[in-house]
Amino acid sequence: MKPNPIMPTIPFDQDGAHHGFLRLPYSRDDSAWGSVMMPITVIRNGDGPTALLTGANHGDEYEGPVALMDLAATLDPAEVTGRVIIVPALNYPAFRAGTRTSPIDKGNMNRSFPGAPDGTVTQKIADYFQRTLVPMADIVLDYHSGGKTLDFLPFAAVHVLEDKAQEAASVAAMKAFNAPWSMMMLEIDAVGMFDTAVEEQGKVFVTTELGGGGTATARSIGIAKKGVRNLLIHAGILKGALETGPTVNLDMPDGDCFHFAEGDGLIEPMSDLGDVVAKGQPLARIWAPDRTGVPPVTIAAKRAGLLTARHFPGLVKAGDCVAVIAVEV
Ligand SMILES: [Zn+2]
Repeated sequence: MKPNPIMPTIPFDQDGAHHGFLRLPYSRDDSAWGSVMMPITVIRNGDGPTALLTGANHGDEYEGPVALMDLAATLDPAEVTGRVIIVPALNYPAFRAGTRTSPIDKGNMNRSFPGAPDGTVTQKIADYFQRTLVPMADIVLDYHSGGKTLDFLPFAAVHVLEDKAQEAASVAAMKAFNAPWSMMMLEIDAVGMFDTAVEEQGKVFVTTELGGGGTATARSIGIAKKGVRNLLIHAGILKGALETGPTVNLDMPDGDCFHFAEGDGLIEPMSDLGDVVAKGQPLARIWAPDRTGVPPVTIAAKRAGLLTARHFPGLVKAGDCVAVIAVEV
């Protein structure tokens, strides 16, 4: 396969804190020999495990970038055993535009793996992670939130894996992250995900959904900051005691967790995040946006459980995910 065109401006194998860029040549109208400059920090202190920490895989999700900018600016190499690779914005063009997907090529980073060294900008970034950064890592944390269109109960998550030892190691890392909720997550569309790419390389992988709505809160950022420190302690990279509180274990047993709109309209929430709902209970009603006197369409819970995610904007379109119900275990 062709070499990836991305060039790091900092070393990966030298002790100390190095702040620089992953420079991806990107020739365009306003910059003939221009580049995409993705911020990266590498903090290394001798031999030991490597953690790869990423945020803004989707560009409108903010807990990850904030927690990782803070970590990159404050982590003292003397505290570290091994190496921490920090990329606050995995889909950097999307992050700068405040959009889920890249404004350059409309690439959704989490559907672009394994990527291609001669593909679009998004595919080139994915290929660099697939073949260069992920192989360096022992443990990978990729932060997500709901972005502009979803809102979540704050949880850390892992997937059911064929390799049960890898799954157990990922569950242990998720527990160390210690978000208020811990989820065994079912994906509706796992092909092309960074998660899948990392897991297929046999790495310990933890992801999150920490909030949403295209913003972050003091609480959700607190969860993100505490979680990454705990994860690094768990991995043996930082010393100290885990800062832990209670976490509720959640599971998504099957596709009945997901509820989708079948028409456009004005959404009336009938349950809020964290509410315990019964099977058949109305989760939301969708009103016709264009006339009065028409009864709303009710979206009823397909199973009992906890409302874990919800559609965020006030208007909904056919096919939008309106609600996700998870089950407490
Ligand atoms: Zn996301």
